[in-house]
Amino acid sequence: MDRVILHSDMNCFYASVEMLYHPELAGRPLAVGGDPEKRHGIVLTANYPAKKKGIKVGMALWQAKQACPDVVFVPPRMDLYLRFSRLARELYSEYTDLQEPFGIDECWLDVTDSVPLFGGGRKIAEEIRRRIKLELGLTVSVGVSWNKIFAKFGSDFRKPDAVTEITRENYRDLVWRAPAADLLYVGRSTRKKLATLGMLTIGDVARSDPELLHSIFGKMGYILWVFANGEDRTPVSPESYVNPIKSIGNGTTSPRDLEDNDDVRTVIYLLSESVASRLRDNHFVGDTVGLWVRDNGLYSFCRQQKIGTPTNISDEIARHSMCLFEEHYPWTVPIRSIGVRMSGLHPDEYCYQLDLFSDVKAREKQFKIDLAVDSLRSRFGHDSVLRGRMYFDRVLSGLDAKAEDHMIHPHSYFESGDRTGTCRIMENLQTYE
Ligand SMILES: [Mg+2]
Repeated sequence: MDRVILHSDMNCFYASVEMLYHPELAGRPLAVGGDPEKRHGIVLTANYPAKKKGIKVGMALWQAKQACPDVVFVPPRMDLYLRFSRLARELYSEYTDLQEPFGIDECWLDVTDSVPLFGGGRKIAEEIRRRIKLELGLTVSVGVSWNKIFAKFGSDFRKPDAVTEITRENYRDLVWRAPAADLLYVGRSTRKKLATLGMLTIGDVARSDPELLHSIFGKMGYILWVFANGEDRTPVSPESYVNPIKSIGNGTTSPRDLEDNDDVRTVIYLLSESVASRLRDNHFVGDTVGLWVRDNGLYSFCRQQKIGTPTNISDEIARHSMCLFEEHYPWTVPIRSIGVRMSGLHPDEYCYQLDLFSDVKAREKQFKIDLAVDSLRSRFGHDSVLRGRMYFDRVLSGLDAKAEDHMIHPHSYFESGDRTGTCRIMENLQTYE
């Protein structure tokens, strides 16, 4: 029996979430962009009115402004988008536990076993589409098919707010007539090579000789042929989840130079608390602690270390950061700025090996204390609960470690595309060889 696979894609995701929070901009062109660090000044997503005026993802902000002078830019709020991404995943999990996210806004669902319970694939897809709109205020387009590749094709076929089913009866009409570039992993150079062979549509690829494709593209040639024919059998695999967020960090330039380990410890605790609390908000634990330090001369360094047990406990992050500091800073001159970052992020329900020597009960207690502090601070402000050491030096501990200073770095589109692409291809090779 064929599997029933859905691919759900949230439409113009970041922009749609921002529209929920800016109802006054309804109908106006809006673009999300302007990451403070490396993706500075680039459009990450645009809503449909902005796209209609020619704004494209990846455009520099100034170009977008040229194309559409009345566009409104809003800076990205990754933690907000993550929250919606998580809410969508919770909703999907009512239909299946086999869900494989593809980036932050897309997800494959294998609902084969839920069909007897909820009705056919299309019925489940329609229900998900309706519920996401009603419960989250966002639109999705959903593709339904017997394999992941055609399900993904279906979610791109009609959008926004639509369901497209690709069946054994209609795939020649719907999929095969589409340009070859619409097939997953056919990039620009593959498309050009295919065109020189006279293969312009997915159907051309499907009907071609797989050995010919192999002679030109290597193993990838077989994969393309398999994809185009709807023969992809890779499972929807919850394990292949790649976290869309790379790291969460917070840094600061202190109000006065830091003179000794005690000063540094105060600032590290302050930063670690805010990083840990942000991890907890987003249901992450991290397995790598990073520290960067700049002194008041020219020297700066950046060190990171993998830790045994992934954590989002403030005290543990602070201790690891402090160890890194003591190990690597020679104290020749005072310090101007310092930052703490957690990477190697996993969902907090992630299973990991505890090391033999950590006290599980003590950790649980620490975690509960942190949660209690989070809740007090959200109600009564940051200063309502402070560690004792913060009272030694209110100039240092009064630093503004508020949420806005956080740096949350998503994997870049190309990086995560490449990475998931490569591992997916490896999987395929194992399946087909
Ligand atoms: Mg999308």
